[in-house]
Amino acid sequence: MSNHQPYSFFHSVERSFDKAASFTKWEKGLLEQIKACNSIYSMRFPVKMDDGRIEVIEAYRVQHSQHKSPCKGGIRFSDEVNQDEVMALASLMTYKCAIVNVPFGGGKGGIKINPKKYSVYELEKITRRYTSELVKKNFIGPGIDVPAPDYGTGEREMSWIVDTYASLKPGEIDAAGCVTGKPITQGGVRGRKEATGLGVFFGIREVCNMPDVMAKLGLTTGVVGKTVIVQGLGNVGYHSAKFFREHGSKVIAIAEYEGAIFNSNGLNEEEVFQHRKATGSILNFPGATNIAKSTDALEIECDILIPAALENVINGDNAERVKAKIIGEAANGPLTPEADEIFAKKGVLVVPDMYLNAGGVTVSYFEWLKNLSHVRYGRMEKRFTENLNTHILTQMEELTGKKVSDVERNFILHGPEEVDLVHSGLEESMIAATREIMAIWKENPTIPDMRTAAYVCAINKVGTSYTELGIFP
Ligand code: NAD
Repeated sequence: MSNHQPYSFFHSVERSFDKAASFTKWEKGLLEQIKACNSIYSMRFPVKMDDGRIEVIEAYRVQHSQHKSPCKGGIRFSDEVNQDEVMALASLMTYKCAIVNVPFGGGKGGIKINPKKYSVYELEKITRRYTSELVKKNFIGPGIDVPAPDYGTGEREMSWIVDTYASLKPGEIDAAGCVTGKPITQGGVRGRKEATGLGVFFGIREVCNMPDVMAKLGLTTGVVGKTVIVQGLGNVGYHSAKFFREHGSKVIAIAEYEGAIFNSNGLNEEEVFQHRKATGSILNFPGATNIAKSTDALEIECDILIPAALENVINGDNAERVKAKIIGEAANGPLTPEADEIFAKKGVLVVPDMYLNAGGVTVSYFEWLKNLSHVRYGRMEKRFTENLNTHILTQMEELTGKKVSDVERNFILHGPEEVDLVHSGLEESMIAATREIMAIWKENPTIPDMRTAAYVCAINKVGTSYTELGIFP
């Protein structure tokens, strides 16, 4: 029986897929094609370490789907990397991109190393050798497969990748588009750092703006005044908390691994962050109550719970005690299937990770577009818009004999900077995706939860794309 087989992340993605596929009209063969990982590159290469030893490095790149090109997905540096995990993550990228209408296939890469155990020079050699292996096999390129950061990698590694790629492909004018998540000076885009947290906020806000959905949950519409609890004050948690607070919600508790803090009047994430930096702990924040056992914070009564730290934190053991009405999966996989079932029964709305944390890949898409167009967003229209707005406002003031306030003037005259356009493109993408998923769920109320509706949304889009490609004569 299957319980003697080792756990497979990829099979668990396949199971979720199959569950959702039963709510679609696609024929079996096409569903099999959507599910399959198209290309798997498993590699081993030697790298000479600082002490002269040769180490054989195990690494992967998986292209799950080429229904759209290029493939897209991060590169992970972790001891836990294995082929099954990279396959699962690559398939999730296909579905994630489809849902937020990012025209890419799914991909993922991994190098089985603990980056903390290597010197910067060793990491650079590993990253550059990995990139040249990808180039040799045609597994990277602005029109083929575009990696990005994931666990254990960041801007630094992306710089090494683009530099290696460009040096092996002299004269390739679009070389900067071979990877995203680059520093701004190397072709990166403004607004990426906060993208995932901001996307989480936009997605949840859109759900909160749906009167019928809120009525079912016994909540008023809008995010103003809603109570929020955030687990994890890292990149995603910090920015989610920031945008909820700035839009009138109250972040009443923040949980970190050393404990949690609670204040019914609301917490300011930046002050908490500075306190943690100064004291080494989130605990003893002025005006807040300490919660010694961090996970107890997940069980406090609130409107919106945002797990933004780790996977499997809400499971069969604690889901029953969670009192939130909405759970926004900012982290990847924070809920287990047992928790999903409990929440579906309790009528708790779980907004799924697969699309809710897609802000990063959406902004990656904007970075790639910027690289292909070779121009910073806003450069062409900012000054024109400002001149035009100044003209319109001056005319209106002359005609009415009244003047607007300085605050209003600055707002009206402002022409878009790169970051404004990136944020607005992200807002549009998250709103559109939320509405599409909800429309599917409404059309078919037998779909058990929003996660399954999101999968249905993805399958329908990839299915349509394959059919329109005409590869099944
Ligand atoms: P991060 O490392 O910046 O932050 C994670 C935070 O969680 C850290 O502050 C850490 O101290 C805290 N934490 C660790 N264990 C905890 C525990 N037991 N209880 C409470 N807090 C704990 O990582 P991140 O980039 O913010 O990513 C968080 C999650 O979001 C991950 O699941 C990641 O896969 C997912 N995600 C991130 C992005 C992105 O753009 N960064 C995009 C999509 C998904």
